[in-house]
Amino acid sequence: MTFEINRRSFLRLGMATGAASLAPRWVFSQAAQPAAPTDRLAQMRAAGATTPIKTTKLYDNIWLLQGAGGNMAVQSGKDGIILIDSSFATAVPHIREAIAAVSTDAPHALVNTHWHVDHVDGNEGMHAAGYHVIAHEKTKTRMAEPAEMKLFHMSIPAYPAGALPSTTFATTMSHKHNGDTVELVHYDPAHTDTDIYVHFQNADVLHCGDIFFNKTYPFIDEGTGGSIGGTISAAQKSLALAGEKTKIIPGHGPLGDKAELKSYIDMLSAVRDKVAALKQSGASEQEVVAKKPTADLDPNWLHGGSPDMFVGIVYRTV
Ligand SMILES: [Zn+2]
Ligand SMILES: [Zn+2]
Repeated sequence: MTFEINRRSFLRLGMATGAASLAPRWVFSQAAQPAAPTDRLAQMRAAGATTPIKTTKLYDNIWLLQGAGGNMAVQSGKDGIILIDSSFATAVPHIREAIAAVSTDAPHALVNTHWHVDHVDGNEGMHAAGYHVIAHEKTKTRMAEPAEMKLFHMSIPAYPAGALPSTTFATTMSHKHNGDTVELVHYDPAHTDTDIYVHFQNADVLHCGDIFFNKTYPFIDEGTGGSIGGTISAAQKSLALAGEKTKIIPGHGPLGDKAELKSYIDMLSAVRDKVAALKQSGASEQEVVAKKPTADLDPNWLHGGSPDMFVGIVYRTV
C-alpha cells in the first residue's frame, strides 16, 4: 500500500499532489481519476467492489488471484484452503467466488504479507467465512491502531477484533499443509516493518508481498519502517530462494520470475547508489530530484508513483 501513518507525510514534503494523482496505479489499477482526497478509502473500496478477479493457475493446487488490491494466492487441498492477502473488504464476495471456482475444500487460513489496507481490508469478511488469520506480530499491532494516511488525506480506524490476526509470529513459521511445506518468514524492515514472504517449497511458488513491485518503481512506506536499503536486502533474500523456475508473486504487478526480481534489484540499487552519492555530496532533496537521477531508467519502469516521488523516498531513507 501507499501510505504512512503518524503524521510524517509526503504532504510535509510538498509531494502530496503528485502522490495522490499517481497512487491509484499502485493501489487499484482499475480506478479512474482520483476522487476528492477525503473519499480515498471509499474510492479504494469502490474499486474492490467493481474490479473482477483474474485467476491464474501456478501449480496443481495453487492459483494467483489479481484484483483491486495486492496480489493474492490460494493453495487448496484436503487440509483446507490457504489464502494469501485479502484485498479490500468490498472484494470479499469476488474473492470467495474466485476460490469457489477452483476448489471445494474447506477454508483454513488467511496469511497477510503485511499490514497495508490493500492486503488486509478483506480480513474480517474472510474470517467470517471460516479462515483464521496469520501474520507477523507487528501486522496485528498496526491493524489494531488507527492509521493516519496523510498521503491520501485519510484516516483508517483501528480494525475490529474479527479482522485481526489470531496467530502471529516474530521471525518464522513453518506449516506442513496439503502435501507441501509452507514457510512464512519475516523480512527485516523493508517496505514496512511487518513484511513477510510465503514460500510453498515443493510447488516452488514464492509470494513476496510488497517488497517486490514487478516492472514498477515501488512505494516504500517510510512511516512504518520502510527504506530503500531494507527493500533491496529483502529482495536479495528472496532472490537467494529462487531458482530458474520459481514463480515469484510480487505484491503488485504481473507474476514474476528470478530474472525479473534480479532486474528489480538492479534498478533499486542503481537508484540508491546515484541518490546516495548526490546526498553525500551535500545536495538537498529538491536538488537531487531536480537532477532526475532515474532519467535513463524511466522508459523501462512503470511509475506507480512519479519517478520524483520514488527519488524522494530513496533520498529520505538511504
Ligand atoms: Zn504495501
Ligand atoms: Zn500493496
